[in-house]
Amino acid sequence: MLQGKVAIITGSTSGIGLGIARSLATAGADIVLNGFGDAREIENLRACFEKEYGVRAHYIYADMRKPDEVAGLIDKTESALGHVDILVNNAGIQHVARVESFPDDKWADIIAINLSSAFYAIKAVLPGMQKRGWGRIVNVASVHGLVGSKEKSAYVASKHGLVGLTKVVALENAINGITCNAVCPGFVLTPLVQKQIDDRAAQLGVTVDEAARAMLVEKQPSQSFVGIDQLGALVTYLCSDSAAQMTGVTLPMDGGWTSQ
Ligand code: NAD
Repeated sequence: MLQGKVAIITGSTSGIGLGIARSLATAGADIVLNGFGDAREIENLRACFEKEYGVRAHYIYADMRKPDEVAGLIDKTESALGHVDILVNNAGIQHVARVESFPDDKWADIIAINLSSAFYAIKAVLPGMQKRGWGRIVNVASVHGLVGSKEKSAYVASKHGLVGLTKVVALENAINGITCNAVCPGFVLTPLVQKQIDDRAAQLGVTVDEAARAMLVEKQPSQSFVGIDQLGALVTYLCSDSAAQMTGVTLPMDGGWTSQ
């Protein structure tokens, strides 16, 4: 379905980004991995992509806090693979604290990685996509792009901003064959959420399982985590020709969280 397309997935060395990369590779797209991690493990991962899915797979380092490195990621991909057809802005971090004690550096990093990096990456991919008349941009937002939660000011602000950016990019490119959409997951069991569960277990003096269960019961009516493979399938659908008329939408996959 996506054979011949080149996809960049930011923050794809772990969690949701890695799942989306696997799903896009299964559909035949060539893959550019990005994110932090141990160099040897990342090289093993890259090689596995080529072996398992029979696609071209590259790893390109870029720190999403740095606009020049974000633009460099797009440049390097175009040099190595010719073009960028699919951009998934997925890299993201979290920090939990009340506004009055929220560290300034955490605020700056979260806005830079979760929101501004998407702007710089989109800005750099659009000219090529416009020239070819085809493009798919998927922003991994969150339920926190639609509703708030206490102690997540920077994260909620960044994800609401990402949803707004999604709509404007969609409108500006509606006649260009380029779609731009946002997906809004509820809780997905990844290192980002595991840290929140571990912190909560330590704070309340309960087991990790009890803390995870309490988080789900509080927010996610299905009381189950969203699956990484389920999100991968959704993003792959948005990249398909069947989704050509879906643009500017924000799609929750949240076990009912935002229906409350
Ligand atoms: P994760 O921690 O497993 O993965 C984050 C990825 O981003 C990693 O590959 C990491 O190396 C990369 N990354 C972090 N800082 C970076 C930087 N400065 N430059 C480049 N790469 C960087 O987290 P995840 O849960 O898979 O989160 C992925 C996305 O999904 C995030 O945008 C997050 O906000 C969003 N999300 C997650 C959940 C959830 O429940 N896990 C829910 C909704 C939305």
